[in-house]
Amino acid sequence: MFNPSHAKPLVNTGAGVADLQDVGQRSLMRMVFITTGLTLGVFCVLQFMAGNLLLSALELLVTGLLFWGAWRITGVRRLMPWIYAYLLPTFCFLLYIIVIPGASKTAFVWVYIIPVLSYLLLGRKRGSLLALPFVVGACLLYVYTYPVSLTPEGLIDLGNAIFCGLLLIVFVHLYETRRAAAHQQLQRMARTDALTGVASRGSFQQSLEQSLRESERNQSKLVLVLLDVDHFKAVNDQYGHDAGDQALRHICNSLSKRLRATDTLGRLGGEEFGLLLRNTDRTGAEPLVEALRLQINSTPLAYGEHSIPLSVTLGLAEWPLDGRSLEQLYRTADRRLYRGKEQGRDQLVSRDPSPAIE
Ligand code: GH3
Ligand code: MG
Ligand code: MG
Repeated sequence: MFNPSHAKPLVNTGAGVADLQDVGQRSLMRMVFITTGLTLGVFCVLQFMAGNLLLSALELLVTGLLFWGAWRITGVRRLMPWIYAYLLPTFCFLLYIIVIPGASKTAFVWVYIIPVLSYLLLGRKRGSLLALPFVVGACLLYVYTYPVSLTPEGLIDLGNAIFCGLLLIVFVHLYETRRAAAHQQLQRMARTDALTGVASRGSFQQSLEQSLRESERNQSKLVLVLLDVDHFKAVNDQYGHDAGDQALRHICNSLSKRLRATDTLGRLGGEEFGLLLRNTDRTGAEPLVEALRLQINSTPLAYGEHSIPLSVTLGLAEWPLDGRSLEQLYRTADRRLYRGKEQGRDQLVSRDPSPAIE
């Protein structure tokens, strides 16, 4: 039996996948700032002890800037300028310490951090574009500062430096390529319902939240329809769970064929679905939703030698007339769907009964 108290309402989460990604990127930047600041702090003390007061003072200043950045980074509006403002001076500095008078030959090892940081903060495409010129530049500066001796020992030194760097870039590139592909696949899986291929509950909710924000901005109309398959338990009981699964796919196929590209169909759970119809109001949506209902009603599922009749009950709510917030809109559509069930199922309910005239 349909029971509205079992229907878990969609609530405004405020955070989508993109938002979560942004939060992750910010906390990563904060960690990068803090670790770089701490490293530079140590070198500031070492340079001070070595009597390089100017360099030590500069490093102290940059350490302070990095800690300030770590404190500010979570609140800034756009992250990309901060990433470049960090990477470009850092990479220039890493090149500079190769050629600085009296620099240690081992200062070159810091160049290996360039591809790692670039890929970590910018991803594969932007990361490789930024890392490549700096790594090539660093190699040229190194060869210029420490002319290669063409002895076997000299060539081994050069081979160590170049091949270690090259392999590092190749491995980081491979790692980032696989990580990005896995991330994309996970996102796809989270957005899609595995059984029916329509939008998942979370993805549908995000689309609804975003559409509500857009409708607020443009003052455009929007319709939310909740759909519940009638007597679905009986389908499972009579023909088996596999037939039930096929019925859900069958209904989604029927719906998807008739919807516009701008409409969204999502599975909210079990045999309950949501339809988001943008840029339309109740009057515009009613004929379409009614046609969908009739189509499901007139297209039974062919399951082996059986023909399984299916029907759905639908509740419709229009923004902003029936509710301004996601919760209000959802509750109105859910209430109307429940009334449709009470009134005998296989119907669309898009209005509340007019109050009795006294
Ligand atoms: P009503 O007309 O009042 O909506 O009756 P109903 O039988 O459709 O509603 P009820 O809530 O009693 O039963 C829903 C059934 O849907 C129970 C559950 O086993 C079945 N169900 C939920 N998810 C799936 C699924 O993914 N596959 C299959 N085959 N069945 C499912
Ligand atoms: Mg149900
Ligand atoms: Mg049902």
